Amino acid sequence: MRLLVVEDEPALAGLVRGALERAGFGVDGVDAVAEADDYLAVARYDALVLDLGLRDGDGMTLLRRLRQRRDGLPVLILTARDAPEDRVSGLDAGADDYLIKPFHLPELVSRIRALLRRPNAALGVVLEAGNLALDTIERTVSVGGQTVAVGARETALLEMLLRRAGRVVAREGIEQSLYGLDAPAGPNAVEVAIHRLRKRLQDAGATVTIHTVRGVGYLLAAA
Ligand code: CA
Repeated sequence: MRLLVVEDEPALAGLVRGALERAGFGVDGVDAVAEADDYLAVARYDALVLDLGLRDGDGMTLLRRLRQRRDGLPVLILTARDAPEDRVSGLDAGADDYLIKPFHLPELVSRIRALLRRPNAALGVVLEAGNLALDTIERTVSVGGQTVAVGARETALLEMLLRRAGRVVAREGIEQSLYGLDAPAGPNAVEVAIHRLRKRLQDAGATVTIHTVRGVGYLLAAA
């Protein structure tokens, strides 16, 4: 997941980039509207963090241009402007979220993650719990940043559990999703897949646990 941060206060830009990089994002940083345009023209980003008061103009003009050409890139506006009318005009211009300075860096990271989880956001979504991450496009699973070999069916199972982390996923739903009508599941197919997945994750040192909710299904939680 690659983010572009447009912010012209060097200290704040450094903090924002650092926090996002530690959260696992690839981050490019620029400090002007013209520069942001150049980066957006040549690179593909999953989201944009946009300051409004920039040294060569207003971030809002950049946002309007994006939306005029029907670019749906998720945008989070970062600004010291806290008047309600500013917030409204930012959202009306097509921003997906708005964070007012000063803000807590962890909140910025969570909001970016929330933006990327939205179904209309860029498709490359990484689902995370504990030290476990699943890239829903690449279909890769990693634990503590190290790729772990997980079979396609177990990866699909893990994705279902991660999408509902902390909540129960019905056993029946898992069976229907994982096994097509032309290849009906054996009587213990789901149990076998869960067992395999648990072992894989445990061997890799994942800090998550897949709990069995007797008679209902399964629940994944950070350990
Ligand atoms: Ca600024």
